[in-house]
Amino acid sequence: CGIVGYVGSQSALEIVMAGLKRLEYRGYDSAGVAVPADGGLAAAKKAGKLGNLEKELAERPLPTGTTGIGHTRWATHGGPTDANAHPHLDNAGRVAVVHNGIIENFAALRAELTERGHELGSETDTEVVAHLLAEEFSSCADLAEAMRLVCRRLEGAFTLVAVHADEPDVVVGARRNSPLVVGVGEGEAFLASDVAAFIAHTRSAIELGQDQVVEMRRDGVTVTGFDGRPADVRPYHVDWDASA
Ligand code: GLU
Repeated sequence: CGIVGYVGSQSALEIVMAGLKRLEYRGYDSAGVAVPADGGLAAAKKAGKLGNLEKELAERPLPTGTTGIGHTRWATHGGPTDANAHPHLDNAGRVAVVHNGIIENFAALRAELTERGHELGSETDTEVVAHLLAEEFSSCADLAEAMRLVCRRLEGAFTLVAVHADEPDVVVGARRNSPLVVGVGEGEAFLASDVAAFIAHTRSAIELGQDQVVEMRRDGVTVTGFDGRPADVRPYHVDWDASA
């Protein structure tokens, strides 16, 4: 339902949690975050309100990192449980993904992954993406390229955002039939399903086009099509009253 991502030099967790709060008005049933830090990937997720996630983070703090993603979920496949909440991770716990929308061909992908030895621990349509990203990353070692390869195999409507422990300074996003907006700051970048999530930090935005992938780093963002071709990017100024 709501998605937020950040890469820069501030505490990613603080920015992501504040962004998720700005998206609360849309409604949701669970929430979660992931932060690549200290060579690994840390994640926390909870059914219920953001307060439940905050309590979890207070009891079991995540390491501080400057890259992170977050999600508020509106369940379509699988009930609103902790296990079904996003982010979803691969079996090695190296990649985390959050998703808005529906992956229509998830059952076939799930069967294929199970056949190859993956263990899926949720009832969501989303989890297959984490496992597919892990497989593609293991051969290309490039999260944006892994995302492009995975997206070409997906059917349905999706905004996907992922981080990987081996590329801790990168956030990758993709979209088809579901919105994703990138915010470009000074030495930092944001992305969200809605500009409300990052308007307090930057007003320079890029609307990701249909079937496009964005790779965000501190020093800039790169946009390509699912086919890898560089995309024409036109940043615009968001003049929208943040207090509204
Ligand atoms: N289809 C996904 C799920 O049920 C994502 C739902 C959403 O857009 O929040 O987990």
